[in-house]
Amino acid sequence: MASGPQFRAIHRPPPRDRPCPVFQPAAEFAPDPIVRLQDATKIYGRSHRGLLGINLDIRRGEFVLITGPSGAGKSTFLKILYGEETLDRGQAIIDGENISKLRGDRLAYLRRRIGIIFQDYRLIPRRTVAENISLVLMARGCNRAEIQRRLLPALKLVGLLDKADRYPEQLSGGEQQRASIARAIVGTPPLILADEPTGNLDGRNARQIIEILQKLNRFGATVIVTTHDELWVRRNQGMALELRDGRLQPRSPFQ
Ligand code: ADP
Repeated sequence: MASGPQFRAIHRPPPRDRPCPVFQPAAEFAPDPIVRLQDATKIYGRSHRGLLGINLDIRRGEFVLITGPSGAGKSTFLKILYGEETLDRGQAIIDGENISKLRGDRLAYLRRRIGIIFQDYRLIPRRTVAENISLVLMARGCNRAEIQRRLLPALKLVGLLDKADRYPEQLSGGEQQRASIARAIVGTPPLILADEPTGNLDGRNARQIIEILQKLNRFGATVIVTTHDELWVRRNQGMALELRDGRLQPRSPFQ
């Protein structure tokens, strides 16, 4: 458990009432888990593949690594947490809300409390780094002053202050991933999900990404990462879990 301040929403009215919500460090950790999966099951077609009966609580402030071979269900796991896939059975409670039951504005509003990072960065090619990050806030109705106020610390945290006006193609892979992290955290979400964030990067760039994610965790965010990086898993101080054929188990430190 991280000892830093906890990010959680201080207000949760419907989205239309607060177009540019602010998530602030709370004085204390809330006692409820930020992620609760109960018998979470997702099966694609008749394949018997997906996620099978997962029960899991992730406490606020935790740093969790999810490993497992290709096809084990890691991306599906994150998609369930983000509401991109719905469960066939069981439930997924994210920051107090049953995400599978949310639609439209309410789903969009819960997603504002989740920052997502992908292996392939997914930046918009014809927008600068600053624009890629700002668009998240513009879509939420933040005004120009609010965007500026949030943009600079996000850029600084990932070490891209001097590259704010570059386009993605002018950046290295590591820099693009750092820009995508800035985009994910500019709204200070309490929960950060990263799907193989170091998968396309060399050792040095991967380490930078790991350090940034660890820093965000120290600031109080809950971070859940899928990875194939064995060294990272062995050195990780937090929870490590392994998915195999859709089933989740604790990952032994001696593996
Ligand atoms: P991982 O991220 O561990 O590689 P995934 O979560 O992507 O695994 O996939 C888990 C299993 O579910 C795989 O067998 C994959 O082929 C299958 N799968 C994933 N998404 C779909 C889909 N949209 N339709 C059908 N099968 C899928």
